[in-house]
Amino acid sequence: MIKAVIFDLDNTLLDFMKMKKVSVDAAVDAMIDAGLKVPKEEMIEKIYEVYDKEGIEDQKIFNKVLADKLGEVDYRILSAGIIGYRRAKEGTMCLYPHVHLTLTGLVKMGIKMVIVSDAPRIPMWLRISELGVQHYFDYVINFDDTGEKKPSPKPFLKALELLGMKPEEVMMIGDWAERDVVGAKKVGIKTVFARYGDIFDVKESGADYEVNDIIELLDIVKEENKVA
Ligand SMILES: [Mg+2]
Repeated sequence: MIKAVIFDLDNTLLDFMKMKKVSVDAAVDAMIDAGLKVPKEEMIEKIYEVYDKEGIEDQKIFNKVLADKLGEVDYRILSAGIIGYRRAKEGTMCLYPHVHLTLTGLVKMGIKMVIVSDAPRIPMWLRISELGVQHYFDYVINFDDTGEKKPSPKPFLKALELLGMKPEEVMMIGDWAERDVVGAKKVGIKTVFARYGDIFDVKESGADYEVNDIIELLDIVKEENKVA
């Protein structure tokens, strides 16, 4: 009997990579408008290079890239980039189709809901609140809560502890097979692979279920909970 669902956040509930791409593009346009003389493609490439090195949540990314490209930070260009990024981000941050329907469907079924994300606390909460989904979740667990990222069993064990449930009563949905699926399986939680959010072109997710639309989760939970 499934009594709770654990959700990954980025690329499972929200299309994070699309948001990132559009925001970086807008930031570079704004920096060029403010006087940056670096070609657009070269600048975008450099930004992703730094993201790869420093992490996709790096908040000082433009400082670092400008210092590297120009030898020093030009604050006219930096501020234009930050504003360009923020404006685009607000306009593009959105939930995947059917997320609201799925979450309300699960609420009606009496299913508890938890987010387990590797993102740092503040950016993660800002995304959840900006998307207006904060009230659905009974617990929100992030990297700062356990000090370990998925596929460590720690964040999953923390979720079970908070829920007061056994692994077989919980299901996990996520887009990152090596982290979400592997981590949840380690502690005996059933898994759903969010193929719609997969950016690695994963062939074998290893999950118990795979979905191309998050709404399929409702039927999976119903099926799991069918009285024999
Ligand atoms: Mg994810």
